[in-house]
Amino acid sequence: MHEFKYKNNQLYCEDIKIQDLAERFGTPLYIYSYHTLIDHFIKLQKAFCEIKPLICYSVKANPNLALLKALVDKGAGLDIVSGGELFRALKVGCPTNKIVYASVGKTDQEIEEAIRCGILFFNVESRPELENINRIANRLNKTTNVAIRINPDVEPKTHKYITTGKLTNKFGIDFESARQILLLRKALSNVHILGLHIHIGSQITESQPYIAAITKMVDFIGHCYKDGICIEYLNIGGGLGIIYDKETPQTADTFAKKILPMLKKTKLKIIMEPGRFIVGNAGILIAKVLYIKSTPKKKFIIIDAGMNDLIRPALYDAYHNILPLRCTSYELRCTEKVDVVGPICESADFFAKNRKLPYFKEGDYLAIMGAGAYGSSMASNYNSRCQPCEVMVKKNKAFLIRKRENYKDLVRKEIIAVQIS
Ligand code: PLP
Repeated sequence: MHEFKYKNNQLYCEDIKIQDLAERFGTPLYIYSYHTLIDHFIKLQKAFCEIKPLICYSVKANPNLALLKALVDKGAGLDIVSGGELFRALKVGCPTNKIVYASVGKTDQEIEEAIRCGILFFNVESRPELENINRIANRLNKTTNVAIRINPDVEPKTHKYITTGKLTNKFGIDFESARQILLLRKALSNVHILGLHIHIGSQITESQPYIAAITKMVDFIGHCYKDGICIEYLNIGGGLGIIYDKETPQTADTFAKKILPMLKKTKLKIIMEPGRFIVGNAGILIAKVLYIKSTPKKKFIIIDAGMNDLIRPALYDAYHNILPLRCTSYELRCTEKVDVVGPICESADFFAKNRKLPYFKEGDYLAIMGAGAYGSSMASNYNSRCQPCEVMVKKNKAFLIRKRENYKDLVRKEIIAVQIS
């Protein structure tokens, strides 16, 4: 599943001892395994090889340029949600005909930039947005491709903050409104509606919600044909879940087995937008134990990483496995119930609560697993903390792919206007 394994009781990333990386680069430190990243992409590609989908890695999961470049070099397209992500996609040389652009709030500037560079299509999330894209394309004297993002109103059985395909969510367009838009498509002379898109949520561990959503889409596409509307692409979004704890998510193969027959029947070109599935278990966060604090009720392991570095536990109550870098029979035998917390002034600043973990002492390092997706991409400078550096390991080589921030970086964009005082 991933290339973070114990060898001789020491945790390794591929062929490098993680302790050495922690000492060399300092902590907190994000470490990515190149081979795990690429392996996940290839697993998906192979599982769906019969229909040769365009796999557009979802940049928001982890937008580091080195990761994007590694995936683009293997043939991935990119799923973007902002002008900034488009900038990154272009910077790593992603072919523009492999870029798809979702988001409920694209600005005029972002739309113009994407039209000018000729992306494959916009995933349009509302009628006003479609009309705006048409207006901007007209002003630029261009025609641009779009897919309508449908909100299929299905329950993805995941956390409510990452549920996106229910009608109470802000995303996509309901079937009836989408049909009205498609019927009026000729009035919009500068957009070419050539696809339909869904993205029903994230960390979805069962295939049933996809089956429910795709069934509805197949039915809708049938009605479209009857109305004389021709669809070329079906984008089934991302959302594939991974193992953080005791989940048993579908593998690429079992997922393909369930939905391939339906996709093949559509005879459409298929697009997928996985993020977490590709990068989630390809990255970990290493932190150092600063203090052990015992109170009458608890024992706290205070580490040098905080919720600003990895917000998932605070935001979603997410579980991340925590491992020692050294795992001898002593570590396996001696466990105690602790809270692992960061230095930030919030009680939500935790990585584990009442968790049975090996004994850690001050100065030890620990690994927070499954931190590759929505980890560094959601990091902030809260409490004026410098964001960690990031390292990519390929076999026995480690490459710095993001420098650690320093204090100057923290204030670089701020201005003390003398007139104020
Ligand atoms: N596509 C869209 C439109 C999204 O909003 C997201 C995530 O929010 C993704 C793809 C990627 O989701 P995941 O990382 O769960 O695969």
